Amino acid sequence: MITAEWDKIKGRLRDEVGDAAYRSWLRPITLHQAADGEVRLGLPTRFMRDWVATHYGERIRALWGAENPAIRVVDIVVVNGRGADISASVPAAAKPDAAQRPRLVSQAPCAPVASVDQDELGAQLDPRFTFKNFVVGKPNEFAHAAAQRVAEATAVSFNPLFLYGGVGLGKTHLMHAIAHHIREHNPARRVLYLSAEKFMYRFIRALRSQDTMSFKEQFRSVDVLMVDDVQFIAGKDATQEEFFHTFNALVDQGRQIVISADKSPSDLEGMEDRLRSRLNSGLVADLHATTYELRLGILHSKAEQMGAPVPQKVMEFLAHKIASNVRELEGALNRVIAHSQLVGRAITLESTQDVLHDLLKASDRRITIEEIQKRVAEHFNIKLAEMSSARRSRQVARPRQVAMYLAKQLTSRSLPEIGRKFGGRDHTTVMHAVKKVEELRSSDQGFSEDVELLRRMLQG
Ligand code: ADP
Ligand code: MG
Repeated sequence: MITAEWDKIKGRLRDEVGDAAYRSWLRPITLHQAADGEVRLGLPTRFMRDWVATHYGERIRALWGAENPAIRVVDIVVVNGRGADISASVPAAAKPDAAQRPRLVSQAPCAPVASVDQDELGAQLDPRFTFKNFVVGKPNEFAHAAAQRVAEATAVSFNPLFLYGGVGLGKTHLMHAIAHHIREHNPARRVLYLSAEKFMYRFIRALRSQDTMSFKEQFRSVDVLMVDDVQFIAGKDATQEEFFHTFNALVDQGRQIVISADKSPSDLEGMEDRLRSRLNSGLVADLHATTYELRLGILHSKAEQMGAPVPQKVMEFLAHKIASNVRELEGALNRVIAHSQLVGRAITLESTQDVLHDLLKASDRRITIEEIQKRVAEHFNIKLAEMSSARRSRQVARPRQVAMYLAKQLTSRSLPEIGRKFGGRDHTTVMHAVKKVEELRSSDQGFSEDVELLRRMLQG
């Protein structure tokens, strides 16, 4: 019903403001319904939120009031990519003061509100984190397949599914996608998603109010339990103990468990051995660092979702330069799009460099190719001279390729320029090196970590 109302309002607004402004500002709005006559409209950036609130806020509210007088509050918020469980760890009692209503603009950033059946015990799901919106590439195909399998399975196939990987690589996205899928296709199954922090918070609260019995029961009655970022409970003895018991009880009853962490079970510090081995006993799937191809694919998909015309060159540039994680990549794209919409000019490579000036400068931070060569040579224990030598044995060729790859990522030098610094090599050699390293990174975890470490050291 709310959706239908919103569609009507959007139609009106479109007539009022014209096509161009509609496309830029109003179409990107996502609708989230909160309870009790409250509607939440989400925009991807603070800037867009402010713009829409100032220019169209009153009008939207008036139209909504006319459409449905029960709607007393229209919130316009930033729905950023930080995952949905942030606000969910706030106690449910911390509801905004009713006396302040009606209000229009809330404080950003705010996690999105799910429209699907909310579970007080769990956390809200980000409506954008679906399988459909997840771009699959080499670094994440295994984790994606495993997640999909769990989502589609009617019986438990591997327990637990343990997803791990660095920050911003899609762990939370996949978990929410599993939950969305099950809720849609198999609503009778009880799915509970929450962060490990929230699990801990609930547990401590139950301890305090001496109500651990009902705490236990609540958790033990679910069909699929998903706990995100379990590294948070590592080293917290009581919580870990309770988690372990909950875990065992659910596994014994043949319920599905999905866990995520930033490290593999074996590398999690402060984990008790029996919990670690339990975590290891199911299927462990990791999300590797992104490759250039995956980043490009993600940019394509996001730009299309936002309906923004982003030139291929710009996407290639971003995919090259913003290699840290998907969250930052998304943030950069959002900024570029928002800027072009504000100034009303098409996105170009120049405008992109301009808008992301600070970000790019930080990643460039005048790291020189010489510095990279030196560090990499030290790391692999070869002579610096080998960086420009003609020798092709694997032992020196691989480090050289890594250095070229890092030069491409961390400096703004062009391929021919990089080639010249490596003993006058051709730009196609550099291109090949970049590709090779990316391939290796997605297939060889140890290698990938090595490269990542070097990158971090260089960026200081
Ligand atoms: P993590 O939980 O691993 O830190 P998230 O799942 O929160 O990372 O992902 C960070 C952001 O990047 C989210 O907005 C998510 O939608 C996006 N993202 C990550 N991987 C992909 C992907 N393969 N395709 C599309 N979006 C992705
Ligand atoms: Mg996460």
